[in-house]
Amino acid sequence: MFKEAVDFIRSVYGSGDFIALHQPYFDNRELELTSECIKSTFVSSVGKFVSDFEDKVAEFCGVKRAVACVNGTNALHLGLKLAGVAEGDKVVTQPLTFIATANAIKYCNAEPVFVDVDRDTMGMSPEKLEDFLKKNGFVKAVVPMHTFGHPCRISEIRDICEKYGAKLVEDCAESLGSFYNGIHTGNWSEGASLSFNGNKIITTGGGGMLLFNDSKLADRAKHLTTQAKIPHRWEFRHSECGYNYRMPNINAALGMAQFEKLPALLAKKRELADKYRKFFGGRFVDEPKNARSNFWLQAVLLDDRKQRDEFLAYTNDNGVMTRPCWCLMNELEMFKDCPHGDLSNAKWIEDRLVNIPSWVRL
Ligand SMILES: *Cc1c(COP(=O)(O)O)cnc(C)c1O
Repeated sequence: MFKEAVDFIRSVYGSGDFIALHQPYFDNRELELTSECIKSTFVSSVGKFVSDFEDKVAEFCGVKRAVACVNGTNALHLGLKLAGVAEGDKVVTQPLTFIATANAIKYCNAEPVFVDVDRDTMGMSPEKLEDFLKKNGFVKAVVPMHTFGHPCRISEIRDICEKYGAKLVEDCAESLGSFYNGIHTGNWSEGASLSFNGNKIITTGGGGMLLFNDSKLADRAKHLTTQAKIPHRWEFRHSECGYNYRMPNINAALGMAQFEKLPALLAKKRELADKYRKFFGGRFVDEPKNARSNFWLQAVLLDDRKQRDEFLAYTNDNGVMTRPCWCLMNELEMFKDCPHGDLSNAKWIEDRLVNIPSWVRL
């Protein structure tokens, strides 16, 4: 099976060379817009590409406003701060996520709490969330993540958050272009964060964005990303301790060129998923119910940890890059003492899942 898988992936990419897990796709448009930005000299904290990029992404995601940030991690940090997360608060997230989710909670001096995921969505399980809240009481906020671009059961999670008085902040770093019940991810919460890191579905080099349906929160986010400077033609006065979290104009220029390609990239990712589904059958990690995934990172499930490790070794030895999912957050030194419930689904996935090459070109 391993050799057939490597041969199949090679045939899909039409390449005998090393095949990366993910890589961005650029053409002349990226050169055009970044050159235009450089020629204008406005490459940094002032310029039209930032607000144009924010407007485009907000419209695509169906949110009222978007605020561009330096990266997805600080976008999430700011989103949590705007949701009122502060020192000593408990914030629920999932153990199966990239480290940035848990770190952003820590940046608020809050305590991450880990609740298990569902096996099919790989995102936070509403049942396990409710179970945890019933037993343990109040938490300040809940941060589900749409793993590898597959939407979690976000509307059920939202209902539970409302019932227990917790703020909801979605980590949508991996889910630009993913919809749940026909609505783009990020629309269920107070604020949601995107990432435009080099390995995401579109990139600005480094970058992130916050999505809001509340204009007041968006205004506040903008203010805090720009050192909380009170707008004035010459005066430097700051209303509070803000951040330098604003996306530079040169990154937004790259983002504008990338954004034009998003629909075509999404279609290509779906085509790739169709091919993988046909080949891997039941092992292929597919779109969950009621969801339309962006298929950002595609994945297969092996029988157990031993077979997973053998598959990882064989594919990487043979020039096809694959990787396991992340070490669970609760098993890392700095988060090992954080409260958590039963995490058997996350463990089950960690033992079996392997991400396979997922990049596309137009
Ligand atoms: C990529 C990613 C982020 C943010 O990453 P940045 O590199 O800071 O843009 C946050 N959470 C998850 C789950 C991610 O995959």
